[in-house]
Amino acid sequence: MELLQLIFLGTAGSTPTKERSLPSVVVKYDSELLMFDCGEGTQRQMGLAKLSPARKMKIFISHMHGDHVLGLPGLLQSMALLGREKSLEIYGPKGIRRFVDSVNETVRFDITFPVHIYETRPGRICDEQRYEIHAAWADHVVPCLAYSFVEKPRPGRFNVRMVRKLGVPEGPLWKRLQMGKPVRVKGKKIDPRLVVGPSRPGVKIVYATDTRPSLKIASLASKANVLIHDGTFDSSLEEKALPEGHSSAAQAAGVAKRAKAQTLVLTHISARYQDPSVLVREARKTFRKTVVARDLMIIES
Ligand SMILES: [Zn+2]
Ligand SMILES: [Zn+2]
Repeated sequence: MELLQLIFLGTAGSTPTKERSLPSVVVKYDSELLMFDCGEGTQRQMGLAKLSPARKMKIFISHMHGDHVLGLPGLLQSMALLGREKSLEIYGPKGIRRFVDSVNETVRFDITFPVHIYETRPGRICDEQRYEIHAAWADHVVPCLAYSFVEKPRPGRFNVRMVRKLGVPEGPLWKRLQMGKPVRVKGKKIDPRLVVGPSRPGVKIVYATDTRPSLKIASLASKANVLIHDGTFDSSLEEKALPEGHSSAAQAAGVAKRAKAQTLVLTHISARYQDPSVLVREARKTFRKTVVARDLMIIES
């Protein structure tokens, strides 16, 4: 199984359609789920994607518009029904605490687990052993955060053949070498560089919706492997996109190009595009590696 999976649970903008559920994307990393937005219906999409709500999890909410946040009450209730015990962390702009608290006070489900809520601002908001999460302001009609998942460098490849040849017994000594520490076998010192290759760059994934095209997002997404960006409209509707705080597919492509991202995934697709090929066509004129997100689409790294 791959170490990192990016799973699109909902890819619609504003209203759901038969094909598209409301916004939510999950980075599945080791045993943890990092969820970006939780539109209505997210828990059902989790079921379809076989993601258990009992898992270790953090949720990052971009902004307090209903299409991005109304899935939280149902998800919290299901977690309680399952008797979840693991704590849950929820990050978002100002207002997220009042929202979750009022749901807890008014909808009676006895919560079985601690919920930690962080009203967050731009900057580094999580620093875990193997990854960081950064936030930056998006350019929408209400305060809205874009997030980046930044994996720390991956350890170099462990050369099992060489380590056996050097006579190191499997077990704690292997672990020490993998951690870059020397070991001693039969009085002989073994340098970890003999058996562990150079570290490899980690993966960077950026989630930016809802937003107009923005330099702040281009800089957050600098050299990202995947930029997931608001691509609500085609270019004929750019005049509508601007006052509503959204981007056209072509504008999203401009941000991806400026950021020197590897892949652009357009999301928050307006219900008017049953066939979204116009969005891909327009974006690819500026940024070739563009795809339109589909519900339950998976990207592995
Ligand atoms: Zn939206
Ligand atoms: Zn919005």
